[in-house]
Amino acid sequence: MMINVLVAGALGKMGREVCKSVISAGDLRLVGAVDVRGEEQDIGALLGGEEIGVPVKNDLEEELSQKRPDVMVDFTVPEAAAANAKTALRWKVRPVVGTTGMSAGEIKEITEIARESKIGGIIAPNFAIGAVLMINFAVQAAKYFPCVEIIELHHDQKLDAPSGTALKTAQAITAAREDFQQGMRSEIEKLPGARGGCFNGGIRLHSIRLPGLVAHQEVIFGGVGQTLTIRHDSISRESFMPGILLAIRKVMKLDKIVLGLESLLFE
Ligand code: NAD
Repeated sequence: MMINVLVAGALGKMGREVCKSVISAGDLRLVGAVDVRGEEQDIGALLGGEEIGVPVKNDLEEELSQKRPDVMVDFTVPEAAAANAKTALRWKVRPVVGTTGMSAGEIKEITEIARESKIGGIIAPNFAIGAVLMINFAVQAAKYFPCVEIIELHHDQKLDAPSGTALKTAQAITAAREDFQQGMRSEIEKLPGARGGCFNGGIRLHSIRLPGLVAHQEVIFGGVGQTLTIRHDSISRESFMPGILLAIRKVMKLDKIVLGLESLLFE
């Protein structure tokens, strides 16, 4: 069965990659490309390939009503993502949302609308399968190595620190090791911040920002006479594509919105 896909944010860095991946997948068909930047040019040609008869449009609702896709993939901006997901649900289109920064209230509202109308979808802040596995492995390791610090490394255009993935890792490890207390309380920081940020009074998070990096993370566990390092590297935006394609296929069988790619990987 062919799955018809519309991409919102089609001219952005992620949107372009998603359009390319959908065009190349045998079981998916790109039927709509929406971006506020408009352009009206064919998305296939814009991406350096052949024309596919899909001009980039700037009115999401009109495109949804005319193209009637099965799935809408959203990589736009936090201010637009929630409204886009609600518009998609109104047209019975399954949202696959990668845009980060939606509020908890917005996510709750979207999941509620989807639950009532029995429409599947996913909201995931990280579609890199390796990053999701890294968190899963870290949770397993934390049961035997409760002392841990996290180093995350990103390109120097990233605005927020620490990364959402580092916070999610710390949260998952904290839940796994329960009330374990880590580290000395009377450390002296000669340079403020030298020991990184402290998550919930426990795990230290260190953020590195440099040109040349994409998105990387090391979770370093220390035990008696040994250390264990779990590392994930997103070398390019292509790293997110297998997870996004997996989500597009899997939401077709869902009747509610799930949060996080892990919900689809470890069902
Ligand atoms: P970008 O700025 O390159 O692209 C965003 C695009 O959205 C732009 O082309 C912009 O014109 C368009 N846009 C803005 N408002 C819109 C609207 N209302 N309707 C349609 N298009 C609209 O950004 P990017 O690097 O592609 O990242 C996009 C989002 O994806 C960010 O929130 C980023 O944090 C997130 N992201 C998530 C993952 C993940 O795995 N979930 C991975 C990378 C990036």
